Amino acid sequence: MMQQDARSPLAHLGGALGFGKYMTNAMVLCRYSDGTGWEKPSLVPYGTLAFDPCALVLHYGQAIYEGMKAYRSPDASIALFRPDRNAARFRASARRMEMAEMPEGLFIEAVSTLVDAQRDWVPAGAESSLYLRPVMVADEAAFGVRRSTTYLFFIVATPVDALYRDGMAPFRLMVSEDFARAAPGGGGDAKTSGNYGRTLIALEAARRSGFNNVLWLDPVEREFIEEAGITNVFVRRGRDLLTPPLNGRILPGVMRETILQLARDWGLSAIEREISVTELLSGIDAGDVDEVFLSGTAVHVAPVGVIARRGREHRLAAAGEAQSLAKRLSQAISEIQRGLVADTRGWMRRVAAPSDCLVLSEP
Ligand SMILES: *Cc1c(COP(=O)(O)O)cnc(C)c1O
Repeated sequence: MMQQDARSPLAHLGGALGFGKYMTNAMVLCRYSDGTGWEKPSLVPYGTLAFDPCALVLHYGQAIYEGMKAYRSPDASIALFRPDRNAARFRASARRMEMAEMPEGLFIEAVSTLVDAQRDWVPAGAESSLYLRPVMVADEAAFGVRRSTTYLFFIVATPVDALYRDGMAPFRLMVSEDFARAAPGGGGDAKTSGNYGRTLIALEAARRSGFNNVLWLDPVEREFIEEAGITNVFVRRGRDLLTPPLNGRILPGVMRETILQLARDWGLSAIEREISVTELLSGIDAGDVDEVFLSGTAVHVAPVGVIARRGREHRLAAAGEAQSLAKRLSQAISEIQRGLVADTRGWMRRVAAPSDCLVLSEP
């Protein structure tokens, strides 16, 4: 494991980094207005944002976000993992929410500006990284329901440990019978804040019953699995790796796409198709489902050990074993992210100091 540079603010933090426990001391802001378009991103000290009480986001929820990570390589360079995918998805989310679409180059420039300024905050540990949270909200003060003509984009950053790490117990999921995550045509494929707020009722119920998260079923037949909590879900049966198709309700995860590509490169058959929960649970009981695992930027690749439905627990005996596909994928992706192997697919983007766009504001 690499040592943290003594000059880094991280060298003075004790214990686990957690997830969002420490925010870095700067953030990036970038404003948009229909009349003048996007301004240049500015780097400012981390601090409170002020909103008019009539800001549209506070009433009607025009808000989108992204989650991505920067990693430190052995040569001390810093790189982002597939930021072009986040930039494209951010635009797609904006389109779905009738918000201003940020050009992909500007998005990446804004992210790079923050990461470059906060290099010392990128942890060196094998399972840690700098998590970046770009957000855009409708900040126009208006009252009637309509799209905003102005937007505030900001990025904050936090050094994190992986949410799932070696030695942790595999995840326990509870099938949600009462709630749905997204409706047909309802925007479940956009990373919009409302997609999270309305799932908390099911998340908290699952936690109270001793589970980590919810396994969502489709909202119509309540038979096909969609996502688990706020992560994508995979099922392995022998050499078949299954995941639900992008049906308009499922978030197109960057990790999902990465896993499908690696699995194909490794000669597995990666199949995007509907997965019946009845079939899944009877397959687990019969021992012919080998693995269920979750994927997402925050959780990386995490094994599922138990799925419960209607009071019955279905156990995956081999969850989290060293030779599991989940483990192999997690290691292979992590080696690319930390620059330990050649990046043959062009997934990593080194953060160089950006051009002259940067305005460093006074506190
Ligand atoms: C962000 C997110 C994911 C995972 O996407 P990644 O790009 O892999 O991090 C999956 N499902 C939901 C609902 C999400 O919000």
